[in-house]
Amino acid sequence: MEIDARPLDGFAALGLDERLIAALTSLGYEEPTAIQREAIPPLLAGKDVLGQAATGTGKTAAFALPLLQRLGEPAATERAVRGLILVPTRELAMQVAEAVHKYSRGSALRVVPIYGGQSIVQQLRALERGVDVVVATPGRALDHLRRGSLHLDAVQTLILDEADEMLDMGFAEELEAILEHTPAERQTALFSATVPKRILEIAKRHLRAPVQVKIQPEKLAAGERARVREIAYIVQRRNKPAALARVLDMEGPTSTIVFCRTRIEVDELTETLGSRGYSAEALHGGLSQEQRDRVLRRFRDGASEILVATDVAARGLDIEHVSHVVNFDVPSSPDAYLHRIGRTGRAGREGVAVTLAEARESRLLRNIEQFTKHKITIESVPTAHDLRARRLELMHTALEETLTGGNLDAYRRVIESLAVDHDVLDIAAAAAKLADEARDGSADDEADIPKDVAFVQPLAERPRFTKAHPDAAKRMASADMTRIFIDLGRSAGIRPADLVGAITNEAKVDARQIGAIDIADGFSLVEVSNASVDSIIAALRGTKLRGKPVTARRDRKVKGVRP
Ligand code: ADP
Ligand code: MG
Repeated sequence: MEIDARPLDGFAALGLDERLIAALTSLGYEEPTAIQREAIPPLLAGKDVLGQAATGTGKTAAFALPLLQRLGEPAATERAVRGLILVPTRELAMQVAEAVHKYSRGSALRVVPIYGGQSIVQQLRALERGVDVVVATPGRALDHLRRGSLHLDAVQTLILDEADEMLDMGFAEELEAILEHTPAERQTALFSATVPKRILEIAKRHLRAPVQVKIQPEKLAAGERARVREIAYIVQRRNKPAALARVLDMEGPTSTIVFCRTRIEVDELTETLGSRGYSAEALHGGLSQEQRDRVLRRFRDGASEILVATDVAARGLDIEHVSHVVNFDVPSSPDAYLHRIGRTGRAGREGVAVTLAEARESRLLRNIEQFTKHKITIESVPTAHDLRARRLELMHTALEETLTGGNLDAYRRVIESLAVDHDVLDIAAAAAKLADEARDGSADDEADIPKDVAFVQPLAERPRFTKAHPDAAKRMASADMTRIFIDLGRSAGIRPADLVGAITNEAKVDARQIGAIDIADGFSLVEVSNASVDSIIAALRGTKLRGKPVTARRDRKVKGVRP
């Protein structure tokens, strides 16, 4: 039993030295992650390691910390590349080099990233000056090897990071060529989010009696994974941009990465989103290095809210606070899906993964579900009516906040003078309307986005509403409507469409029999025509909404008064 448990005992217990622990303390790391716990001791002992863990689990520190400790202080006279880290993309080269640099705080070790797109002169100069650790993309590393500007004969430790991705990007031959230039007695570690057969083959050829470390995604599931809500919408391809806009408006994400298959798709979608008023920026391999840096910086800083990216461009990037990941298409494999959704729900935060699928792709979705053992809920694209309801909900909150905020005297006087001739409720409603219109001049798309037809879902037929619900107010006041109280509300996830769907489906009444809908946290109120009220209450008895049993009854409160 530990009595004197210092916060960094976890790292110290793995055998890391004081200097590294001081660096970790300054970075705010408290406990090693699972992959770090498992991989650091064998790496420190000089063993080869084959490590598998999902994106975002801290693989960089898992290999960088032992690498740094084993290198020790550099010899003052002769500097030689003793640590080599190969990564698939230039962004990762920069990111990993930066991480290694941070972990090396307090030592004199030099770390440089070497990647395509950066001035080769600059890289030559850095290499000439002498470096200890090189973080490189395979293509550029091979360039330097051929020019004679990179020497790998002193390499003690070689790391292949995101090895699966390097293979997917067609770097297999480059990897072989680079490995040939390194001493046979080196230490080798291979890290990958997935370990398909091709990776095992590489490991068999180039790793010596590797310690295999596999962190099961299932083990993560309880704490981390469950925090990602996974949803799919079935829509036709041509309706995807509109569906995406609806979903974004409904979800209100803080920052989103949208994945597309190709550069062209990325550019097109970025433009479409821009024209719809979203601050979206494209990230793909066709951009210059400066452009990419700028895009990433703006996204990290929150200056842009949506990053539209190809898999390759975004792979492995460590971006914090991604609230939503959108698959504009169903990813080609379950692995790719896991990689993508790994961008959100990081470090225990909540995340949402949205997939836009065509009907013919629903089989792919099921494959992914089986493989990942995550449930992907298929939902209907929010209707214009849902959005409208959501906006009114937001307005309700905003008004409440303004009311408690006070400082309303000037406005009160305006209302007072109007109240001489008008009902105060009417005046308030007019003010709300004005605010609503001023806030969002652009009209909603009114047409509902059709579900991709080949896909048939039981609750498919949602009644079509006119978006503004123009006569709802009149209906509410009219004597032939009755209010039903339903004991589920916002906190149960109830949306207007759920209520309308349940009522029209269960009671087989026309949507026109339904008037105003008011959803509070713990309950909902629905106006229905007097003629249908009993059959609706009877029909709702025993049914479920969002998985919860419903109780419905006539509302006892006086009409027209908010609960
Ligand atoms: P991976 O390579 O597995 O995708 P990274 O190495 O990029 O993951 O790490 C993801 C994030 O977690 C980074 O921001 C990193 O600084 C952070 N991190 C890594 N290890 C720890 C730790 N032990 N405690 C806190 N944060 C950590
Ligand atoms: Mg990584």
